Amino acid sequence: MSKPLSSGRYTELLSGEMAMITVGFEENKPHFYVHQNLLNSVTEAFAANYHYVKSGLKDEIKCIEFPKMDAKIFKMFLSWLSNNDRAQELKTQCYTINSLMCVYDLRISVKCATLKMDTLYALSGAMNQNANTFVETIDSMLFFKKYSEYSNKAISRLHTMLDEISELTNIELGDVGSLLKVYVKTVNWGNKKWQNRVIDSIRDKLYAQKDVLDFDLIAYEFEGTKNTSLCDDKLRKFCAAMIYYRRHCGGCPLNADKKLKAEVMERFLTKIDGFMAEYLRFEDEYQTEFPGELPRDPRDRDGELGNCYFHFHKKSDVCTRGMDLDA
Ligand SMILES: [Zn+2]
Repeated sequence: MSKPLSSGRYTELLSGEMAMITVGFEENKPHFYVHQNLLNSVTEAFAANYHYVKSGLKDEIKCIEFPKMDAKIFKMFLSWLSNNDRAQELKTQCYTINSLMCVYDLRISVKCATLKMDTLYALSGAMNQNANTFVETIDSMLFFKKYSEYSNKAISRLHTMLDEISELTNIELGDVGSLLKVYVKTVNWGNKKWQNRVIDSIRDKLYAQKDVLDFDLIAYEFEGTKNTSLCDDKLRKFCAAMIYYRRHCGGCPLNADKKLKAEVMERFLTKIDGFMAEYLRFEDEYQTEFPGELPRDPRDRDGELGNCYFHFHKKSDVCTRGMDLDA
């Protein structure tokens, strides 16, 4: 993201000649007067495309037109451009995710790399604040994917954008329930990078709070990922590991020493579609890997199971958490 401008530099940019920029298709197009120095400080796109027009203010003025631009979005760009602390400006204005996504797109027409970084910074902030905005963003992406005649390019841009945001985001999206909601979305989206990260966050949160995934949360995960085949989903594996651990070692804060009883196990195994197969498969795998040993706490990423036990990559691969498996 961009650093704040010094006051000297800022004054310098707000001097000199103005340019006139018109946006939109209408007859009375909105137009804006902007310092050329300011525009030229972030991109060469304007300087290369000016033409001269007669103006009421002066005999001639440098002008540039953006017929496809939405005036509201262009105003956001200008207010970003005119602020001496640009990165913070976008972030503190509380813009909607949708309008920030439009500004993210705008950086292509204005060829501005710093605008891109600042927008991503603002988006990651907005998405970190709550899980719902993130879920909505993926929803709109999935919507466009469904009706892909709209624009494949738009989808791939959104995809890239979310990917770039994931580099900036720690996925601190509220409680475990919210994280699960995000997880189910990322499964539909098909982004393993995010899935790894959300699983990490779920493990960390449960471990720090000495908490477990309860029946409802596990049921939600299995319902949300019902289209994945057996062994293909790592959070399903984590759920199985959680119950396996509780069956043999306890681990629930309310009954610290209480191991799950047969009747409680029965509920998990029979009332959640797909859980029994996942559980038995996990039990087999675990006993093959650690013969005769008690289960390890699956929540502990620093423990013996390790960081990558529930990651979507091969054991032998170097973990980057962000690795792209489709590449
Ligand atoms: Zn890993």
